[in-house]
Amino acid sequence: MNKKPESLKKSKKLAEDIIGEFDDSGQERLNPVEQLARDLNRAVEEAIQGTDEPWRSSILNMGGGHDEPGLVKLVEYIRLVSFYHVQGGFMQGCPLQFPAEVCRAVIDSRGRVEPWGQCRTCKVLLPESHTIARNKMIKQRFFKNCPVCGSKL
Ligand SMILES: [Zn+2]
Repeated sequence: MNKKPESLKKSKKLAEDIIGEFDDSGQERLNPVEQLARDLNRAVEEAIQGTDEPWRSSILNMGGGHDEPGLVKLVEYIRLVSFYHVQGGFMQGCPLQFPAEVCRAVIDSRGRVEPWGQCRTCKVLLPESHTIARNKMIKQRFFKNCPVCGSKL
């Protein structure tokens, strides 16, 4: 064993750092911002898996700066719903399901799309579009019945 003291010190420090990231039960210690970022990334992954085809594949193949604006809008909406899913509050844990009707409505909408509320039965968030006409904000809801469970909204 011919290890130089310096490299020994380094590897000892490295091991301490690795051990330091775990608490006694082997759980990683994350600060609240790291935890939120990690939860959000997980939620976005789950949300993309919960998106109907062909849009799921389209999203997974995005990149290169030439993405369709409608698809970019859909991804923004999915990220927003994922954020509501992880943050505290009454929308926490909302389903990460994006049926074809929702994808189509978001992609085809003019203006910005945001969730306006939640289905009382299955808790899924539902989108509405925000457009500006004659200096007035016009909000338009897309559904009268929940596209996930069919309940009247
Ligand atoms: Zn529903």
